Amino acid sequence: MQIPKTLKKYFILSLIAAASFWPAADILALETLAGFEDRYAIHYLDDYSKQELLLKVTQLPKNSAILFISLFRDVNGQSFVPRDVMTEVSQKANAPTFGMVDTYLGYGIVGGDLLSAGYQGRKYAQIGKKVLNGEPLTTLQDMENGNQTIFDWRQLKRWSIDEDSLPAGSIVRYRELSIWEEYQWEIVAISVIIFTQAFALMGLLIQHRCRRRAEKEAQKLRDERAHISRVLAMGEIAASLAHELNQPLSAIRSYAQAGLRFLKNDPAEPDETSKALEGIIAGNRRAEEVIQRIRMTLKKEPVKRSRLDVQDIIDEAIVLVRSIAREQNISLKSGAVADLPPVFGDRVQLQQVLFNLIINAIEAISDENNALGEIIVLALREKPDMLTISVRDNGVGIDEKQGDILFDAFYTSKPEGMGMGLSISRSIIEEHGGQLWTTRNPDKGSTFFFSVPIYKEHNK
Ligand code: ADP
Repeated sequence: MQIPKTLKKYFILSLIAAASFWPAADILALETLAGFEDRYAIHYLDDYSKQELLLKVTQLPKNSAILFISLFRDVNGQSFVPRDVMTEVSQKANAPTFGMVDTYLGYGIVGGDLLSAGYQGRKYAQIGKKVLNGEPLTTLQDMENGNQTIFDWRQLKRWSIDEDSLPAGSIVRYRELSIWEEYQWEIVAISVIIFTQAFALMGLLIQHRCRRRAEKEAQKLRDERAHISRVLAMGEIAASLAHELNQPLSAIRSYAQAGLRFLKNDPAEPDETSKALEGIIAGNRRAEEVIQRIRMTLKKEPVKRSRLDVQDIIDEAIVLVRSIAREQNISLKSGAVADLPPVFGDRVQLQQVLFNLIINAIEAISDENNALGEIIVLALREKPDMLTISVRDNGVGIDEKQGDILFDAFYTSKPEGMGMGLSISRSIIEEHGGQLWTTRNPDKGSTFFFSVPIYKEHNK
């Protein structure tokens, strides 16, 4: 049906309805809007082609609103599905589009008090049924109209319509949840996990840093303890070291006197003189060696691991203790199985361990008053990646009950003892990646063993 031209007014509210298949709605709209004409300019867009209509709705004056009733056919006689036209109108329009039926909701209308198509269908089906059953139509009059006030959230947003301004009890559909609203729990859970992990990681880093600092401190203390112990040990054996030095010095004097004599002889004896001079040089070298050992032992240097020959370590440690052994008539033998591979360690520290073990062995023998005291220092390869050095004595031996207590700091059975030697030695060896242990000999005395890792190319 055509809307009478007399009703066409411009502005503010534009009503779209043309050739409607739904004349009742057109008429209802005309009748209803007639009461608002004094307050709103109402423009009926019913005599345009669809193209013109779509252009028109882009140019509506400010504060306009469109009430889309239906459009099955335009002035050119072209047919449409009204809802599709409504969607296009809504998309193009510069004013919000309203409709009357809920089947338009979600396709472009803002919403409002909408007629429920489903409800109407059910309602008329019931009427039909009642009519067919011969019931009087009067009983149907009080049936509700089934309208609902519903809005499209997206259109409200598009036209900045505040939800608070909607009539009470309005239903808002097509609400798009924000990422927060949609994934609230997931976001909370992930955040908690991330924060927990970050805190745990921070905690671990702090802990790691503290531990490294503590390890460094502990290492420093151990080095200092080892150094003090070496200095004290040197003090203890100072007398015998003096003796150790005395020997080459008296030999030097004897060779010098002999050399003088050979020179004064007539004729002078140059061959003998040069032999005496060589003796002086040899004596000097021995004295230097002893001094060198003492200096190295007393030096306070940071631990430095390198490739070392075991036989050298044994020989150098023995230089320091042989005079004490000799004084006490103890035979001190040493040996290493031929072709032993080099080990990886700190020269001074390994010598210190060996030195401690030999001194303990000497003391164990003198405690036993053993006239045939004997100490044997041996090196052998028991495991593929370790060398074992043993110090065997025939002294007083260790008590089964003593067990590992010997290695505790400050444990000593000697009146003058400090009880630090074995404890320091064990920590030195363990830092090298080896072990220090002891066994009772089947016959007499005890043997102390320590293992040191064999030097590998990657230790460079
Ligand atoms: P100290 O020699 O000052 O006592 P150590 O830590 O070197 O300290 O030795 C601890 C104890 O272990 C000694 O007092 C001694 O009882 C025992 N011990 C060490 N070596 C031997 C040994 N070769 N034979 C018997 N007992 C030993």
